[in-house]
Amino acid sequence: SDFAKMPVNENQVIEINEVIKLALDIFKGENISFKTSSKPIFVQIDKTQLIRIITNLIKNAIQATQDIDNAKITIDVKAFQNQAMIKVSDNGIGIPDDIINRIFEPQFTTKNSGMGLGLSMVKKIVNNHNGNIEVKSQSNTYTTFIITLPKIKQT
Ligand code: ADP
Ligand code: MG
Repeated sequence: SDFAKMPVNENQVIEINEVIKLALDIFKGENISFKTSSKPIFVQIDKTQLIRIITNLIKNAIQATQDIDNAKITIDVKAFQNQAMIKVSDNGIGIPDDIINRIFEPQFTTKNSGMGLGLSMVKKIVNNHNGNIEVKSQSNTYTTFIITLPKIKQT
């Protein structure tokens, strides 16, 4: 897709559930369950940047579950205090303890034809927007990425 070529507008205020829904259109046919927040959540971030975050995390989740029988990928959106929280989980191969500290490094990959650039880009975008990304994982069990971004206060 050509999101990479679209202009960046950092002053854009977007509704997070709406944009994630857009991002998920790219993955129709995949079994991804999306739990939206009960209320709209507004965040200041370029729409294409948020789409990039989501597509990278989902691609990784799909690859991590490709040989799993009951593959399950979920996205969960919630407001938490003054933050928007996005959780992306899969029940795939997981990340071994001895490499989990390295996955956000540029060019770190465990895949034969991986570039290792996805997560470093995701982290850069999140940090540029005063957000945070964390990962929790267990080998052969699950992986969860948790992103927080400052919420725009509605007046
Ligand atoms: P790439 O996908 O090209 O390998 P990424 O930066 O997207 O690069 O990911 C870096 C590494 O982090 C992957 O090679 C993999 O080892 C690990 N990883 C990322 N997401 C997951 C996941 N959902 N499940 C298991 N491992 C993951
Ligand atoms: Mg990747």
